[in-house]
Amino acid sequence: MRDTATAPSDLSAVAFIDLQAQRARIGARMDAAIARVLAHGGFIMGPEVAEAERKLAARCGAKHVISCSSGTTAIVMALMAYEVGRGDAVFLPSFTFTATAEAPAILGATPIFVDVLPDTFDLDPASLERAIAVAKQTGLRLASVIPVDLFGQPADYDAINAIAKAHGMWVLGDAAQSFGAHYKGRALGTCADITATSFYPSKPLGCYGDGGAIFTDDDETAKKLRQVRVHGQGHDRNENVRIGLTGRFDSIQAAVLLEKLAIFDEECAARNVIADRYAAGLRDVVTVPVVRDGCSSVWAQYTITSPRRDRIAATLKAHQIPTAIFYPKPIHTQPPYRGFPVASGGLPVTERLAQDVISLPMHPYLTADAQGRVIAAVRAALV
Ligand SMILES: *Cc1c(COP(=O)(O)O)cnc(C)c1O
Repeated sequence: MRDTATAPSDLSAVAFIDLQAQRARIGARMDAAIARVLAHGGFIMGPEVAEAERKLAARCGAKHVISCSSGTTAIVMALMAYEVGRGDAVFLPSFTFTATAEAPAILGATPIFVDVLPDTFDLDPASLERAIAVAKQTGLRLASVIPVDLFGQPADYDAINAIAKAHGMWVLGDAAQSFGAHYKGRALGTCADITATSFYPSKPLGCYGDGGAIFTDDDETAKKLRQVRVHGQGHDRNENVRIGLTGRFDSIQAAVLLEKLAIFDEECAARNVIADRYAAGLRDVVTVPVVRDGCSSVWAQYTITSPRRDRIAATLKAHQIPTAIFYPKPIHTQPPYRGFPVASGGLPVTERLAQDVISLPMHPYLTADAQGRVIAAVRAALV
């Protein structure tokens, strides 16, 4: 989700993600909200931060929301609250953004890479079982599983929670791309022991800089997270009860987030209309993404699969339509991560998807006209 250029909207260009169209709608309200922060001057942990935490909690039903400085920090802080470190195995997909693997690696823990399912792109429970067997042979402590809700759709939490529990592990949901989606009637933020999300500008719910949040129902974990967020601070600034970091969300970003939260339901509905239109227009020529029964997606990406993906990319480029490949190089193949274990049987689905996936323009303000041009160009590439 990194190099998603956010081109300004004009009638002829199709934007991959169009933040300017959203600004045209709520920019004046957002500017006023930012101006209020500038006037009161409470830049760190100001009233907007508390209000954003309250509204995020109310939205998903989590008991505690701890806002923080980024999605990566959210994952790191969650692992720190659970005291994950050297000798600990943390299971996660290789087909994800680097941050998921980076967080355990920063703390000296061992990421263990698990394959994904070909139709939903998220963690394969059978591969997870095989990865656990590998970890047991190496003598690592089984610590945690990090399912990723890739491209906006929830991972299979019932299956993954059951496996984790059977092995004494806790589950950390990486909902950086999926906050706002539902898993079998439950909102993300309540589907794992602890959930992390990101408010990076191009995520479905973003701010105008870096930001993130952590969700949990557990009082003790929430208390530890609040300590970790401010240098392990205890009752006052002179008492340090654990090792922490500078992990706070800032008031200006919270003010932006609050304005975006007010229209988020409408935007999620618009994304679903667009996803349905893509599926109707493309399902006979490429593999379109599948949403699990009883679940919803917020469509952080609309990602199709085709053995002729490079031809699709070239044709769309010739039509001035931007596309992106998430992710062309699985994490377990990247130099800093090559030494870490993978599930036995390898990661064949991950390696094939890296060759075959391509993400099309997706944002709530994509018009039917513009989308028609994208669909026509994909079809033209394949005749
Ligand atoms: C974006 C992202 C993150 C990291 O979020 P930042 O706010 O950019 O640090 C983590 N995991 C996944 C799956 C992401 O897409």
